[in-house]
Amino acid sequence: MSAAPIFERLALIGVGLIGSSIARAARAEGAVRSIVATARSGVTRRRVAELGLADQVVETNAAAVEGADLVIVCVPVGACGAVAAEIGPHLKPGATVSDVGSVKGSIIKDMGPHIPAGIHFVPAHPVAGTEHSGPDAGFAELFVNRWCLLTPPEGANSQAVERLAAFWRALGANIETMSAEHHDLVLAITSHLPHLIAYSIVGTADDLQTVTRSEVMKFSAGGFRDFTRIAASDPTMWRDVFLHNKDAVLEMLGRFNEDVSALARAIRWGDGDTLFNMFTRTRAIRRGIVEIGQDSETPDFGRPHPALQHLPRPYAADGE
Ligand code: NAP
Repeated sequence: MSAAPIFERLALIGVGLIGSSIARAARAEGAVRSIVATARSGVTRRRVAELGLADQVVETNAAAVEGADLVIVCVPVGACGAVAAEIGPHLKPGATVSDVGSVKGSIIKDMGPHIPAGIHFVPAHPVAGTEHSGPDAGFAELFVNRWCLLTPPEGANSQAVERLAAFWRALGANIETMSAEHHDLVLAITSHLPHLIAYSIVGTADDLQTVTRSEVMKFSAGGFRDFTRIAASDPTMWRDVFLHNKDAVLEMLGRFNEDVSALARAIRWGDGDTLFNMFTRTRAIRRGIVEIGQDSETPDFGRPHPALQHLPRPYAADGE
């Protein structure tokens, strides 16, 4: 737990996976003195109150930000501009406004004009998540040892940036600061393109006529299963990510298409060396990710492996 709260009053606008994880972690770590929350629907607001995620649950975005020192907007990227327009006139002078959106350039463009002078606007993106949504899906440890990328616009107050960084560090995150443009390019390859590929491959399998849907599910442990987890991610969130990071995603997709074509050519012409060299290079990337603690080397992504003899025959082998 941190020694003293970093902010007095935190307002959370949107309490899904990310907003509710922030609420849980900020509480657990004493990073703020009090939390006020709101969400678009009465159903979510009621659930937030039932779960006791905030000291106060209010009905409107404007009411939520009254008197708050830190406001974090945790709604889909495409909704952030309208939220900023709504809260702008009600912000406390000197407050910090941030967000958690997975795209940063469009957030600055959409939210920035609605943030009045005297308010610190420091966009952020915690690079942590799961395929689940809603206030029940969050957990306090979500950000531990994960990156939170800050993309302060030019001229942002450095003390305000550092204070927000301290808040995220208290929640367990590591901080890096970069431009919004660079963020969007990096995330296009590390997050957005992998999601697009997962959505596409799972969709393709579902469209196949010659392989039944039940076979796809039954034999999914051959690699497909790990794509299905990513392809189960929230449709609204991901629609917004692709529409708002269009240029960077299309650039990475262009490169990907070229590289896939090169692999297809190698397979067609029996060029085993090209395939072998490529797969050796990619294996090193995986080892690097494990070495820097961004994933575990537990076999099969940590799925339980009970002793084979206790298992009914058909489930004994799980993997290629
Ligand atoms: P979520 O679990 O689906 O929660 C979204 C929240 O936003 C809900 O409270 C929802 O309210 C509200 N909301 C949805 N549409 C809205 C609209 N048009 N106007 C106002 N409020 C709206 O989503 P999440 O996973 O927490 O994602 C929230 C943000 O975090 C997104 O910008 C996303 O890019 C970013 N992010 C997500 C992940 C991830 O892995 N999920 C990781 C890092 C960053 P109701 O429940 O009342 O509908």
